[in-house]
Amino acid sequence: MLDTLHRIVKEVNAAPDLGKALATIVTLVKQAISCDVCSVYLTDADSRANVLAASDGLRQEAVGKVALPPGRGLVGLVAERAEPLNIGDAPSHPRYLRVTETGETHYRGFLGVPIIQNRKVLGVLVVRQEALREFTDDEVTFVFTLAAQLAGAITHAQASGELDTLTTRSRGARYLEGRPGSTGVSIGHGVVAYRMADLEAIPDRNTDDIAAECAAFRAAVSAVEDDLSKLKVRLSGEIPAEDHALFDALLLMLGGDTLVTETVDLIKQGQWAPGALRQSIDAHAQVFESMEDVYLRERASDVRDLGRRILMHLQSDSPQHIEYPTDTILVGEEVSAVQLAEVPSERLVGVVSATGSSSSHVAILARAMGVPAVMGVSDLPVGRMENRELIIDGYRGRVYIAPTPAVRIEYERLAEEERALTAEAEGLRGLPAESTDGVAFPLFLNTGLVNENNSVYSDDFAGIGLYRTELPFMVRDRFPAESVQVMNYRRVLEAFSPRPVILRTLDIGGDKPLPYFPVEEQNPFLGWRGVRISLAHPEIFLTQVRAMLRAAVDLDNLQIMLPMISGVTEVDELKMLIKRAHDELVEEGYAVSMPSIGVMIEVPSAVYMVEELARRVDFVSVGTNDLTQYLLAVDRNNSRVAELYDDLHPAVLRALDQVVRGAREFNRPVGVCGELAGNPLATILLMGLGVDSLSMSAGGVMKVKWVVRSFSVSRARQLVHAALRMEDPQQVRRFMESALEDMGLGGLFRPGR
Ligand code: PEP
Ligand code: MG
Repeated sequence: MLDTLHRIVKEVNAAPDLGKALATIVTLVKQAISCDVCSVYLTDADSRANVLAASDGLRQEAVGKVALPPGRGLVGLVAERAEPLNIGDAPSHPRYLRVTETGETHYRGFLGVPIIQNRKVLGVLVVRQEALREFTDDEVTFVFTLAAQLAGAITHAQASGELDTLTTRSRGARYLEGRPGSTGVSIGHGVVAYRMADLEAIPDRNTDDIAAECAAFRAAVSAVEDDLSKLKVRLSGEIPAEDHALFDALLLMLGGDTLVTETVDLIKQGQWAPGALRQSIDAHAQVFESMEDVYLRERASDVRDLGRRILMHLQSDSPQHIEYPTDTILVGEEVSAVQLAEVPSERLVGVVSATGSSSSHVAILARAMGVPAVMGVSDLPVGRMENRELIIDGYRGRVYIAPTPAVRIEYERLAEEERALTAEAEGLRGLPAESTDGVAFPLFLNTGLVNENNSVYSDDFAGIGLYRTELPFMVRDRFPAESVQVMNYRRVLEAFSPRPVILRTLDIGGDKPLPYFPVEEQNPFLGWRGVRISLAHPEIFLTQVRAMLRAAVDLDNLQIMLPMISGVTEVDELKMLIKRAHDELVEEGYAVSMPSIGVMIEVPSAVYMVEELARRVDFVSVGTNDLTQYLLAVDRNNSRVAELYDDLHPAVLRALDQVVRGAREFNRPVGVCGELAGNPLATILLMGLGVDSLSMSAGGVMKVKWVVRSFSVSRARQLVHAALRMEDPQQVRRFMESALEDMGLGGLFRPGR
């Protein structure tokens, strides 16, 4: 049975489209379990009817035509319950429905298995027998495993619109759903970003030089054989014998023919070597993954590892040269900041990432660059996105693949309206950010993640409210020297002088690892990050603070901010270190002065300790990205829980309220520098809560200024008073949306004007 499963999975994966995949599956399953009929029904997303999409055994004319209304018949029951149904004598079941168009005789044995992806029923895989027959457990799990295989293929087909033709039903526009990452709409072409040796993210590409691809692949395989043999010799005596068996197994797999021949066959069909390798490794790994034995299941990761090793050799022999079209939409499993930075900015019109959320650093980067982004599109068939026409809607978190003309026309209109809206917002340049009743609400810039050009250093910013210092640390292969840091910081301080610049001390760890300072942790967001590393490595902290103080000589606009503070001891110790750096520099003859010092409120404990913290420093600034993550216990980068991550959550608003009240006891100004500060829906709430200033990415400032200039503080207070009593984030969101719509500012949070 396992062999058959392997063969079917392979053939289904090799099918060029869903129609062929379904036809293959029904034929092979029927043979494999010697039944009379095997059919696939696909559930229409709109009507929920189950449409016969493929069958071996029923009349072919019925395929695509027969649609069982929701809940009707045994197929409807399987879809409704999302559970398999195995009955020896179907006609005796009260829900049995005989469909005559399919040419059905009296089939008695019935096994129906739901096809499920992400908790959604996509269809039902059914096998039937004329005679009485209850299918065995083995047969049930066999059909079950194949149904799971089909789920992925169906989701991809759904996204590309292929499903519409299979069910012959007219449909509205199809799109994949993710989370809004950066607002705006874009129409462009996909370019797949993939990491070195990231096999899963390798796109399909055609090759015209089959011989060269085959040769490159074979060379990579022998290089890996070589590596493994050497590794095996080197490790003998160092690792237990059973672990040697792994090397033997992998060598065997390389030496035996299936993996190599299959890959070569795929190359001969026109696929480039990395794509062919991905497909054959995938098929092999899936066979292991479907096994019951835990040990054997685990071998799937060895197979994938083998694939990555081969890929690494393939890639190092042919360095990547990517041609970026002028309307590049960068697509990837997990698009990284470096990949984003690699695209010439004038060619980048959008970003789509299968993982991550709106507060991932890549989304922040997209916002800083003013490029729409959709994050956490978990169903995204990344490998098939190369050169596909895409539309992304960064407001609603949607991705349209190969959009219909009607969708394209609609989005061209929205994009046009958006250009007009942006132009209108640009008209506010130079005007003060103050409410209709004349209260100033200074807007600051978040920067440091990208090397922005000087145009963002405009007068519209009251200063820099958050300079993330990690980038110069991330792009090097070692800690940057004090003198290098002095130059970096001096450039920013000078550009803004005399306006204040808040430099945040190093906040590495969590999702910002340094390649040369690896921190291996099970739970990095609750681990060693931010000031925890600074306190453990005062030499890194002192060097950075010295550089900051030296950079500010004669400018006097430096303020230092400490990230990830969770208690007063950290602040006391770090203040002492700052003082020590200052005193040493004075001794060394530098004319440095003590800067203002502030703390970030990002950890729930800091909310409750805000008075004690505020007393010790000159200002506080709320990092709502982390505060939301820790208050709601939702990893800010995990797309599986992205729906729970919401910085408009009443809990976040109430925490902000508490912070403002606490800091006010000591007359300390409160800023907000998380992404919430750049969200026009939140502006009024933050104004009403009594926050003193906002700091945001360059892209959003005009829209926020527009909101500030449209409301009075007294109106803002009324709105916040109501919002603080609300029970869930959706209520807050709808409330604020209608407040903006009422002012004619709907275009600031949704597509169009
Ligand atoms: C925050 O957590 O809100 C913040 C501004 O810091 P970062 O996004 O860099 O973690
Ligand atoms: Mg943070």
